[in-house]
Amino acid sequence: MDKARKKRIQEFLEPYRISQGKEFRLKDHDPADTRGFTSEDKGEAKELLTRGVEWLAEAQGKLYAQDRWSVLLVFQAMDAAGKDGTIKHVMSGINPQGVQVSSFKAPSSEDLDHDFMWRCMKALPERGRIGIFNRSYYEEVLVVKVHEALLAKQQLPPELAGKKIWEQRYEDIVAIERYLARNGTVILKFFLNLSRDEQKKRFLERLDNPDKNWKFSTADAKERGHWKAYMAAYEAMIRNTARKHAPWYVVPADNKWFARLVVALAVVDAMDDLDLRYPKVGPEKKKELEAARQLLTANEK
Ligand code: ATP
Ligand code: MG
Repeated sequence: MDKARKKRIQEFLEPYRISQGKEFRLKDHDPADTRGFTSEDKGEAKELLTRGVEWLAEAQGKLYAQDRWSVLLVFQAMDAAGKDGTIKHVMSGINPQGVQVSSFKAPSSEDLDHDFMWRCMKALPERGRIGIFNRSYYEEVLVVKVHEALLAKQQLPPELAGKKIWEQRYEDIVAIERYLARNGTVILKFFLNLSRDEQKKRFLERLDNPDKNWKFSTADAKERGHWKAYMAAYEAMIRNTARKHAPWYVVPADNKWFARLVVALAVVDAMDDLDLRYPKVGPEKKKELEAARQLLTANEK
């Protein structure tokens, strides 16, 4: 990618990218922000998204052929923030063989019989692939922190489940992400930042539109009651786990088209840093290719 374009993308992403969380405050981030794009410019934003998606498809081809790096994209958000739609749009141009999406719902009893990272570690992307976590081990410092009864179900020895557990979990997550980064996994984490009002609007739409009824869950509507506790948990999570090797993007999510653009460009930017290229073949392989050509072009009877 040329330098000027790279610079424009980085400037665009700058307000959303948190790579050091100490000063992070959620209230400085407006869920309705569209960075100067108005709804009339929506078409332009969508065009940019299309170009981003095309670029990604190309980069992914090289990532796969090179078989060195893996890319892990983590998505966290309140319900109806648009995780599914964002994943679908941003990955729409990509060869399905090169991406793995894993959704983490309430843990099974087998999951609960292991450490909290276990089920996610099993789903990490192989080299050459993009792995997407639709929810993740971060639920362990979100829903589990908001509902401490869930912690009690985790079979931890009581002396290990005291007040310090959240700090310890942040620490462990940071350490594991650093380990993965050092082993060639590029990690990007997205918090789709939805406002409470917009969530209400989307829930009402799910009730009004018969095609969306299936998406509505009374439990989700109940979770809204814990909004403040969730926002405090998200803020603490980002403050404690944003690192250069595994940044958080706080993505304004009240406008779906804008959220998708931010996510796509963040992935484009990170993959561009990898300087991906198709592997060059050596003299041995070239000879082999030449022999194959002769075999194919020889007169076949
Ligand atoms: P959808 O868009 O289909 O609603 P979803 O990701 O919300 O997708 P659900 O089946 O509604 O999926 O439920 C996921 C639920 O599982 C969430 O409420 C989430 O908080 C919960 N969950 C995920 N991980 C954990 C965990 N480690 N401990 C407890 N609950 C968890
Ligand atoms: Mg749900």
